[in-house]
Amino acid sequence: MLLGELDHSVSQLKGIGPQSASQLAGLGIISVADLLLHRPRDYEDRSTTVPLRDWTKAPVNTVVEVVAHDFFGHRRGRTLKVYVQDETGTATLLCFNRNFLQNVLKVGEKFRLYGNFTYRYGELQSSSFETEKLFEQSSSFGRILPIYPLTGKLNQGLMRRAVRDALRRYGRYVDSELPESLRRHFGYLPKSEAIRQVHFPDSFEQLDLALQGLSFEELLYFQIVVARRAYRRDESRRAPQLLPYRLQRRCIEALPFKLTADQKQVIEEIKKDLDGPHPMGRLLQGDVGSGKTLTALLSALPVIEAGYQVAFLAPTELLAKQHAERAAGFLEQLGVRLAFLSGHVKNAVRAPLLTALAEGRVDLIIGTHALFTEDVRFQNLRYVIIDEQHKFGVEQRGRLIEKGRNPDLLLMTATPIPRTLTLTFFGDLQVSSIRSMPPGRKPVVTHLARQDNEEKVYRAVRKELERGHQAYFVYPRISGDGESDLKDAETMALRLRETIFSDFSLALIHSKRPEEEKERIMHDFAQGKIQVLVSTSVVEVGVDVANATCMVVEQAERFGLAALHQLRGRVGRSSLQSYVFLVYSRELSEEGKRRLMVMKRSSDGFEISEEDLKLRGPGELGGTRQSGSLGLRFTDLNDDLELLQRARKEAFRIVKADPALALSQHQNLSRVLECCAPFPEELFAGG
Ligand code: ADP
Ligand code: MG
Repeated sequence: MLLGELDHSVSQLKGIGPQSASQLAGLGIISVADLLLHRPRDYEDRSTTVPLRDWTKAPVNTVVEVVAHDFFGHRRGRTLKVYVQDETGTATLLCFNRNFLQNVLKVGEKFRLYGNFTYRYGELQSSSFETEKLFEQSSSFGRILPIYPLTGKLNQGLMRRAVRDALRRYGRYVDSELPESLRRHFGYLPKSEAIRQVHFPDSFEQLDLALQGLSFEELLYFQIVVARRAYRRDESRRAPQLLPYRLQRRCIEALPFKLTADQKQVIEEIKKDLDGPHPMGRLLQGDVGSGKTLTALLSALPVIEAGYQVAFLAPTELLAKQHAERAAGFLEQLGVRLAFLSGHVKNAVRAPLLTALAEGRVDLIIGTHALFTEDVRFQNLRYVIIDEQHKFGVEQRGRLIEKGRNPDLLLMTATPIPRTLTLTFFGDLQVSSIRSMPPGRKPVVTHLARQDNEEKVYRAVRKELERGHQAYFVYPRISGDGESDLKDAETMALRLRETIFSDFSLALIHSKRPEEEKERIMHDFAQGKIQVLVSTSVVEVGVDVANATCMVVEQAERFGLAALHQLRGRVGRSSLQSYVFLVYSRELSEEGKRRLMVMKRSSDGFEISEEDLKLRGPGELGGTRQSGSLGLRFTDLNDDLELLQRARKEAFRIVKADPALALSQHQNLSRVLECCAPFPEELFAGG
């Protein structure tokens, strides 16, 4: 049986009542499989003895005899104190709220003891310790114990008991998903054994081996999917066709500036693909403002000139509109027939637009999710460009791509993706990068400020406003609940308007406001009629107002680094010096501080994304969110590059050797492997 098929409810496991079951559900643990896939966040080594004498080196793990009892504190709230000793010393156990231990830790009896000690009031003390009778069959001593991520009232003991019960009842039925010969070749454990070792390792070496095998398995799965995609693209050959480049050249010549070297290079790379015998699959990454959008539009011109259609997809209406307006500004004069489509384009306009599109009278359509709709048809869609690709699901992207016949595909992201992630999720794509910014931009100056110093920040902003510049204020949420002291956009808009910036015009924008209003506000902001724009992270993507030179992000620690980086990209869009103030709350964790420091130190999106990955894990980077249940549970993308490359090599070999496998639509690796059984074992002979 496959691990994923252990769908029995956790509530039938030992010690799991309705309450724990619902708390487990809060962690996403509903079935036995979920529980077994719940990876410990750490381990406690109770396999080696640490006598009392060595309490500074590691948690004490020893056998003690109870010497005496005592109490301290008031009569009601008095606390039991137990004196114990082992061969190396004596210590006291402070039993806060555990006076019942009086009847457990009896004088003269021996116990196993595990705990953290400190030296106070002339004695060695512990208030956080565990004990167990010496002659009982031990489940938690003398071994390495898992420490699970918990929530609510769940505790380690309960989790361990439940996992142990799950392993005892079902563990041995879990089949390996790696082909047997491949598993042997690399020396990985059978899956049932690996799962057991992850929870209750016999040693740290075994744990490591188990994790490697499990990680390899999930990476191999990903790589097979990737390899299949690459194979399919490779298979869909077309007659190479040299596209005309007059239009593109004319357009580039008409630009009021020169393209950067990186932009030229990317346009060349895309040109090669477009002329080539396989549809393009390319990821274009580059910081906000580096000129990706322009580059992408330019790259599309040969396709248009040759008489094909191009679709340009953006994640928000605001952004799509802005792209469309800008594209219109320099493309319409060249005779490119442009259209804009969003959910708000209604019947009277929509119907004729769709007809024109289906009849090939539109060359370039720029739009939002509305482009996915079924009644959107193309005459000959040849090139699909997707901005902020991570905002779209894989299937969504697929729906647009299917509207053409193997169209060329360009995915864009302003959140550069760390290399391991690129390989994992986009391993079938070529990658282009724009690393340099257009000339003349001054790097944005980033200041960190504690919430109590916000007045200073407001004063600095005022100076900028008085110079005729504009400012953004960004908050983590739209409105308050009247309880928490989290700042929100609505309350702050009111406060800023009435007190702090009452002599400037200010507007509030967020996702719940009607589309027309948002547009009007953005338009007025762009025109300079509004000086202060208060918002949530809706301004995150794309909005382009060169005169806006400062941004204040309050409760900055509530945003991910990638989001902050995107936000910061809204300013510094001209030769004016720009400023970002990241205002953080009083209670900022160490990690929070470190994250904000990264923002202060670096303005390189590539570096920020690597740091983000280190500090936070892959999270939503690179569209991993959409892979949902495929989530990588055993892989640490920070240091598994080697393993990843191993999986990649094997996957490409498997797919290349068996195209049937490559074309299979099955979504699960073992199913994929099953469906072409008998699986040609020689594929895995190694080498
Ligand atoms: P991105 O999509 O990467 O955020 P855009 O393509 O929107 O970047 O470009 C940001 C701004 O910079 C736009 O106003 C664009 O016209 C301008 N721009 C793009 N390339 C250059 C360049 N080589 N020199 C000067 N300005 C440029
Ligand atoms: Mg952009």
